Amino acid sequence: MEKLIYFDNAATTKIYPEVLKEMLPYFSKIYSNPSGIYEFSAKARKATDLSRERIAKLINADTEEIYFTSGGTESDNWALKSAAQFLKGKGNHIITSKIEHPAVINTCRYLEKNGYEVTYLDVDSDGIVNPEHVMDSVKKGTIIISIMFANNEVGSIQPIKQIGRIAKENNILFHTDAVQAFGQIPIDVKDLNIDMLSASAHKLHGPKGVGCLYINKNINIDSFMHGGSQEKKLRAGTLNVPGIVGFGKAAEMAAEKMQEKIGYEIKLRDYLIDAIIKNVPYTKLNGSDTNRLPNNTNFSFKFIEGESLLIILDTLGICASTGSACSAGSKAPSHVLMAMGKTEDEAHGSLRLTLSGNTTIEEVDYVVKSITESVESLRKMSTEYSEFKTM
Ligand SMILES: *Cc1c(COP(=O)(O)O)cnc(C)c1O
Repeated sequence: MEKLIYFDNAATTKIYPEVLKEMLPYFSKIYSNPSGIYEFSAKARKATDLSRERIAKLINADTEEIYFTSGGTESDNWALKSAAQFLKGKGNHIITSKIEHPAVINTCRYLEKNGYEVTYLDVDSDGIVNPEHVMDSVKKGTIIISIMFANNEVGSIQPIKQIGRIAKENNILFHTDAVQAFGQIPIDVKDLNIDMLSASAHKLHGPKGVGCLYINKNINIDSFMHGGSQEKKLRAGTLNVPGIVGFGKAAEMAAEKMQEKIGYEIKLRDYLIDAIIKNVPYTKLNGSDTNRLPNNTNFSFKFIEGESLLIILDTLGICASTGSACSAGSKAPSHVLMAMGKTEDEAHGSLRLTLSGNTTIEEVDYVVKSITESVESLRKMSTEYSEFKTM
């Protein structure tokens, strides 16, 4: 295989071999439907129950509070649409932020078209929501607060504990899209007063197409998928047994590795940040220095287009991103960077590099060297840059 330097772990991750190994029998030998009454079905059911336990444990939830879905997008849709529907009698106001993943933002836009009122909170220049703004936006009729745990573009970790407290004190349902944080940093749904939480297996070295919604057992919301009686009648459809098995194994491994992995990634991340800032002039780090996911870096390079840089890096075997994969191919500047008060030029000149526990220092050095040279050659073609240089 050609060189593959994968620095896009916020988009998806490589499945752990142990996860794949645990999944395989559920494609072939144990193919039973977990809803059946015979012993063959019980085998599949046991496997999905074990996954539920492993996932619940990772966030200090109870096993019966985990509902399997097809991924983060479905979990976000379910949480917001069903809670909004269920709480309609109480009010129609939802509070979220301007930096949410499209799965939340576009669901909120849909709800706006259907009679709900949504407040999209600003963030500070680090990409962090101010809990006081959450407090100030609460009014009679506020039914849901949905703020992501950590941002997928700039890695900013949100003040979830303070927001959870505000929600609790005001009797408002609190949902968090934790897809980027789940399995990466500690989460305790009880301590943080989280009512609903979305997670997705493929962001923590599990398979694609499977995720979960944690629903606090004191919360009532409607079913999203109507059909059979799976998942306590709240999410119909035959369970994706191999996927769920893989998700459970990935959650267990994430718990085992978490502390060591965080330390390793932070060291590598900070080494990468220092090297880029030192080697590439007219460059800024986007996002927070301190409240940042261990594996996230995001830069703005003056005088260049992030898209052009991506194409050159691709020829060098490097996978990176200009923001969310969902906005790849679209020309609009990142809504996250714009909400942070960056200029359009800064947003267009951005590059996201996200690491994993398997990233090596040699890979980081290669990426730094490649970016340094690529940015230099792109700037040589920039009239703006040559004008700037002759000023
Ligand atoms: C990846 C991601 C999602 C979408 O999850 P899928 O499982 O790919 O549908 C939602 N929110 C955030 C923050 C993400 O990073």
